Amino acid sequence: MKILRTVRELREALAEPRAAGAAVGMVPTMGALHEGHLSLVRAARAENAVVVLSIFVNPTQFTEAADLAAYPRTEETDAALAASAGVDIVFAPDAAEMYPAGYATTVSVRGPITETLEGAGRGSAHFDGVATVVSKLLLAALPDAAYFGRKDAQQLLVVQRMVADLGIPTRIVPCPTLRDADGLALSSRNARLSGEDRARALAIPRALEAVSAAVLSGETGVAALRARAGEVLIASDLEVEYLAFVDPDTLEEVATAERPVLCAIAARAGAVRLIDNVLLGRDPERREED
Ligand code: AMP
Repeated sequence: MKILRTVRELREALAEPRAAGAAVGMVPTMGALHEGHLSLVRAARAENAVVVLSIFVNPTQFTEAADLAAYPRTEETDAALAASAGVDIVFAPDAAEMYPAGYATTVSVRGPITETLEGAGRGSAHFDGVATVVSKLLLAALPDAAYFGRKDAQQLLVVQRMVADLGIPTRIVPCPTLRDADGLALSSRNARLSGEDRARALAIPRALEAVSAAVLSGETGVAALRARAGEVLIASDLEVEYLAFVDPDTLEEVATAERPVLCAIAARAGAVRLIDNVLLGRDPERREED
């Protein structure tokens, strides 16, 4: 496995396999790798001859300096995990490689998909940072396919919109959310949870399970579903930022779950901000064209 630091090295390394017709799969990450990331690597491994994993803690998508400073950086362990999962190339540029002196371009996806949920909570700069860095990473590697987790459902939508709008010739492949045995969605931020906060954080998957169960048993009123989730969250003492029931494609609020609905939660457990979601009323592994 190679570890490359510059776009130039990355392009050089990919030139030969690409000329030979090898498919390239890319998994963009911010490092502190866990099984969730590795599941994306496995999906990429299954479909491509060459797998590139990028590790870049992108400063422009952080809207809180403290969050950026506290973000875990574990490159050595990451490299070992990436190698064992079958990654061929780790692309780990520094900030100056991605944003050299004089850098002045922002990719900004506009409209409800960036204004609501995370966009409302963290500010529009967050998704500008995401769209900009993902477009730069995809243009650096020009992969045939890139793999993103449904855990960040809104990010996935933003990336899909951006790739379609800019005509980037990469297929975006959504991958399911991996969870710990207790239901908590795997996240690099979980490492910062105290034991008590982690126990509190379990209310997030429990609330999502409660609404899923309610929909399965025939409840379609969002007010009733919100009340079900609310009971679980209030009991937990989490600081809930949003509990949203939205159209999974437009992220606009909905009043009923007669059609598929994305239920998304953001909450703070201690100093750690967590997000999670579940798709109600549709097989989450639906194909994109469905
Ligand atoms: P991050 O390093 O947090 O920026 O995440 C990199 C990629 O891994 C994104 O596409 C995430 O959606 C995905 N990811 C993060 N956590 C999980 C998880 N628990 N299950 C599946 N994918 C995940």
